[in-house]
Amino acid sequence: MSTANVYVGLGSNEGDRESHLVAALEALSRIDAVAVLRCSSLYDSAPVGPAQPRFLNAVVALECTLPPLRLLTILQRIEQDLGRRRNGQRWGPRPIDLDILLWDGELVAEANLQVPHLELHKRRFALEPLAELAPELKHPVLGATVEELLARLAPQDVRRRSATQWPEASPLVNES
Ligand code: ATP
Ligand code: CA
Ligand code: CA
Repeated sequence: MSTANVYVGLGSNEGDRESHLVAALEALSRIDAVAVLRCSSLYDSAPVGPAQPRFLNAVVALECTLPPLRLLTILQRIEQDLGRRRNGQRWGPRPIDLDILLWDGELVAEANLQVPHLELHKRRFALEPLAELAPELKHPVLGATVEELLARLAPQDVRRRSATQWPEASPLVNES
């Protein structure tokens, strides 16, 4: 079975944000077909869209042997397990949001999944943590590296922060 290098963006802006990110990371590491390779630092960021609490964001690098739509289904189940309720409001506050940002150099254009994530190149809260893990990685549609995309973006309110429970910029220790 083929193995893909996948980057997933995590965000939380409801409740204990850091605990939600840690719980999501643990859930990811428990998926048999997924290996968590590395985690970025945490970033505290202003919300995009409607007024709501600030987010805590991170990006993790995974190896995955599932097809993209299967991983999406699992990510959505993790979101639900961590208390995410879909109430029709797209950008409302949520305990956890898990987005597939990149899937190797592949393009996915399904009704319910677009990869690269369609907003990735506009969002410092996704690109800055991604640049910690893979600055030279190329966006398969835009042809620019993560670093180049960041250089094109205007400043946004995104602050790297140190964390206590989070395995900062390091491989996840497998505790099984
Ligand atoms: P945004 O996608 O702008 O970050 P959001 O994360 O708040 O907004 P959600 O309500 O979490 O949006 O998801 C809306 C839908 O986006 C999901 O039901 C999912 O099918 C779809 N989707 C499309 N592409 C992706 C992707 N790359 N990763 C995760 N979900 C995606
Ligand atoms: Ca999102
Ligand atoms: Ca999402």
